[in-house]
Amino acid sequence: MINRNYFIQFWLSITRFRRGRYLYKSYLNKNDLAKFIHISDAFTTEILKVWYDDNLTSTENLLSLPLWQNSLVRIGNKPIYYKSWSSKGIQNVKHLMKDADNFLSFTELKERFDVKTNFLVYHGLISCIKLLRNAIENQNETNRNFSTFVENFIKAPKSNRLAYKKLVSAKQSSPTKSQEKWTADCSLQCSKTIDWEMAYKLPFYSTKATKLIIFQFKLLHRRLATNDFLNTIGIREDDICTFCRTEKESLFHLFWSCSETSCFWQGFMKWLAENQIKLKSEILTPDIIIGLRSDTLSNTKQYFYFLVARYYIWSCKSKEVLPKIERFPSFLSSLIPF
Ligand SMILES: [Zn+2]
Repeated sequence: MINRNYFIQFWLSITRFRRGRYLYKSYLNKNDLAKFIHISDAFTTEILKVWYDDNLTSTENLLSLPLWQNSLVRIGNKPIYYKSWSSKGIQNVKHLMKDADNFLSFTELKERFDVKTNFLVYHGLISCIKLLRNAIENQNETNRNFSTFVENFIKAPKSNRLAYKKLVSAKQSSPTKSQEKWTADCSLQCSKTIDWEMAYKLPFYSTKATKLIIFQFKLLHRRLATNDFLNTIGIREDDICTFCRTEKESLFHLFWSCSETSCFWQGFMKWLAENQIKLKSEILTPDIIIGLRSDTLSNTKQYFYFLVARYYIWSCKSKEVLPKIERFPSFLSSLIPF
């Protein structure tokens, strides 16, 4: 991630130029950015693109809308910038308003801001804002303020996080395919019976060990290469299970239905009982084993033990040795920080 100081230096250097000053207050869509501003820095271009949002949803949104270099406020199909108006403090739609509903008259505007302009220019701008207002009048109201990326970036205490969140929100999508596959594997009625958001968060609540968090992330997203997958892509000659050497090795087989894995889970349940770790239910189901749900577990520590057990099975598969409960305690202690 880009360092904050780097970013501030970058902005200071570009604002020395006319284009930079133009960019500083701009609120432009992808097309206008490409047409009016040339930025060589790929990161800056990307964050400015995703910052723009033309979804005006309330009158409050409209009042905070910047007037200048804004793709929504167009005269002659171009964003505008009236430098003399800007220098007198006219920046947002609210500066043109007498109150929440009425615009300043042309005379009132001249008196209040001491700007030299003519009626036609002012009327053109007001007409444009009125069109935007008509467009949002029938929409539901939500609270959201329009402000440029750079203003927010400089104000934010954790600026990199702000940029990161914005980029992620523009790109993220729900991994429905892996969710549907797990639902089918575990013979659940409907994927909605799983609280997926919680399933993705649980590893973070239960440990700080990055390798465990990454492992669980890969498992939930079905990104662990089992023998059936390696066989399909031509890396392995057979798709037979590393442990039992009889059935096809899929994720579900490896972690749940394999006879060797089953033995390990039985031993694991005994180990929990011997260590006075009491679950809400003694019945193990595949969704608990995979880490899709935690409602039969009492706390995040119990989730941690299951997570380490899953990771132990995966490390045995990688080393091509059988998972044995006798070796589990030493594996566990190697992962607990002291
Ligand atoms: Zn097997």
